[in-house]
Amino acid sequence: MVKDPVCGMNIEEEQAAGTCRYQGRTYYFCAPGCKREFEQEPEKYVHKLLNEIHVHNSNIQTKENQQ
Ligand SMILES: [Zn+2]
Repeated sequence: MVKDPVCGMNIEEEQAAGTCRYQGRTYYFCAPGCKREFEQEPEKYVHKLLNEIHVHNSNIQTKENQQ
């Protein structure tokens, strides 16, 4: 299961309508339109995705600190 960085939908790799390699990572898209949007502004979507991962990790750290 991977996340479409444009619309945020979770999709299976083999069901992706399109993929794009960017900065050594492969991104998967639910629709050709999502792929097109990503290719126009890849940095915007990569940052969004990395920010979400960062927020998730800091939540885990907060829980560990409280225990
Ligand atoms: Zn999508």
